[in-house]
Amino acid sequence: MNENLSNIWQKRPLIISGPCSAETAEQVIQTAIQLKEIGKVDVLRAGIWKPRTRPNMFEGVGSIGLPWLLEAKKITGLPTAIEIANAKQVEEALRHEVDILWIGARTTGNPFSVQEIADVLKGVDIPVLIKNPLHPDLELWIGALERIQKTGIKHVGLIHRGFATYGDSDYRNPPMWHVAIEMKRLNPGILFLNDPSHICGRRDTLLKVAQCAIDLAYDGLMIESHLQPDLAWSDAKQQVTPSQLNTLLNSIHWRRNITENDFIHAELDNMRLQINQLDEALIQLLAQRMKIADNIGDFKRENNIAILQTDRWNEILERATKQGISLGLSPEFVVNYVNAVHMESIQHQNNVMNLITNPVELAK
Ligand code: PEP
Ligand code: MN
Repeated sequence: MNENLSNIWQKRPLIISGPCSAETAEQVIQTAIQLKEIGKVDVLRAGIWKPRTRPNMFEGVGSIGLPWLLEAKKITGLPTAIEIANAKQVEEALRHEVDILWIGARTTGNPFSVQEIADVLKGVDIPVLIKNPLHPDLELWIGALERIQKTGIKHVGLIHRGFATYGDSDYRNPPMWHVAIEMKRLNPGILFLNDPSHICGRRDTLLKVAQCAIDLAYDGLMIESHLQPDLAWSDAKQQVTPSQLNTLLNSIHWRRNITENDFIHAELDNMRLQINQLDEALIQLLAQRMKIADNIGDFKRENNIAILQTDRWNEILERATKQGISLGLSPEFVVNYVNAVHMESIQHQNNVMNLITNPVELAK
């Protein structure tokens, strides 16, 4: 990997952009020029072979598009990235000096394909990005990462592009942030990017998802950009013009990177300590509350009273919601919290009350 690419790989935030699909030489080159002009894009992406869900959809221009990317790179200096799904595509990409390869969501989910790609990458020094598989199966994603790492490839990154869902959703591929965050946690130090385009499937929600990713300390973004999005041959609804991309990137509140000896780090640690102490106190209080629930259970058992007294429960709920709202908590949160505490309380009382009527206990 040359020095320029190595610097780009380490840049934060790392921004990859370009059309979903390469369509014509003119389109690829003009997009690259406009993306270069906005001054915030580090890598030019374009799909050459498109794995499509249904036949008869545009399946990519194929190898003829590779020289267009090379030309775009020569003109703008932007390194290029494409999706590859088999050994032949890897070989063609390498022959045309593509700088970064990515494994698409449909391919990551297929260990045979990932292994085929890994086999042809042995001994090759090229960065590889791995998108999450279509379904939220962490093991598959980890498996793909391991197969690529085992080839000796040193520069591996991950792209979170959301997960397929059946039925209606606001997203094309719901992000399921917790799944991605777990992948990030398990792989510290590995480049972790977000792809809001394929998560949203539409332009108007890109900023919200991109901001969320940056707030979660992702290392950068891959966003699709097209000169005339509505006329794009694939993924028309989710693409933005280079100028719209510029606006979007300017609208993101970028979070600063904190280093070990940064004073911000110390301040943050201090506040986190306070949170830890409060959490500890809360758990202690909850345990105390459950002890009293046990006592109430004893009392109810001795006096033969039912566990659930509806009036009492309504009173607790009403009082907590009122107090919560006056202190700035959302009513939904208070109700969820009180419900969880109540369930645990009933469980405790249940244990106490039914101990004596347990036939095994009676036989003793
Ligand atoms: C793409 O990046 O254009 C693409 C096909 O993405 P994914 O594999 O995430 O669907
Ligand atoms: Mn796309």
